[in-house]
Amino acid sequence: MHGKIAIVTGSTRGIGLAIARALLEAGATVVVSGRGQEKVDETVAALSNFGNVKGVAADVAKSAEAQKLIDETVAAFGQVDVLVNNAGITRDNLLMRMKEEEWDAVIETNLKGVYNCIRSAVKPMMKKRDGVIINITSVVGQTGNAGQVNYAASKAGIIGLTKSVAKELASRNIRVNAIAPGFIETDMTGILAENVKEELKKSIPLGRLGQGEDIAALTVFLASDKATYITGQTFNVDGGMVMQ
Ligand code: NDP
Repeated sequence: MHGKIAIVTGSTRGIGLAIARALLEAGATVVVSGRGQEKVDETVAALSNFGNVKGVAADVAKSAEAQKLIDETVAAFGQVDVLVNNAGITRDNLLMRMKEEEWDAVIETNLKGVYNCIRSAVKPMMKKRDGVIINITSVVGQTGNAGQVNYAASKAGIIGLTKSVAKELASRNIRVNAIAPGFIETDMTGILAENVKEELKKSIPLGRLGQGEDIAALTVFLASDKATYITGQTFNVDGGMVMQ
């Protein structure tokens, strides 16, 4: 990945942080991002031992901030080779209780955020006729989940978006793939009660929750020149939860 410039949205913690670190370890220059400047600065400080890292605070749900993320990357490094759309939130509730704000917040961050970042990043990628986009979806976008209609819809949307953008941009040598994690140990799943986690483990053939590094390893492969014949796919990293 030497000489490659990679942006990872939502990389101040969790899966995004693991992806940023793995890309740095593979030799890429990495732009880390999240909503708050302070957290972004802390992340840059924590990762600076691993390679060349820059931070840009941006809320992906806002198109102007997504544009700023891409513009500041191009201003600093001249190009964007890899965009990892990882930023995501949950606002869980049963459909009958779900407030419009909960629906909107999840769709705007998880789905519109991906659209916002891709729309801004493809301009420099098209100019270079080279680029890789990796979208982080979820097994929930494939299976559905009671209490997560907003989240499941956003993640299923990402899968359709991935295939459509892959078809639109293949002729420009821009590859677009998605990764569907199962249950990964991060702050997002840390809020689950222990008994819920134990129940979840029973639905995972490999019998354990995954780590951010499990997602990061596939991300680095898909971003690399070893994956130049792969586009429009969704890959599960889920301990065998969903077998297709
Ligand atoms: P975390 O909650 O641990 O981290 C989420 C990251 O996204 C943080 O860095 C947060 O930064 C950032 N973020 C949230 N909202 C925004 C926004 N509007 N703009 C920019 N950044 C934002 O989540 P995970 O690491 O667990 O999840 C990462 C991705 O993986 C998500 O898309 C999630 O849906 C997906 N996923 C996770 C699974 C899991 O089991 N953990 C399973 C399947 C999919 P900050 O708060 O600083 O803005």
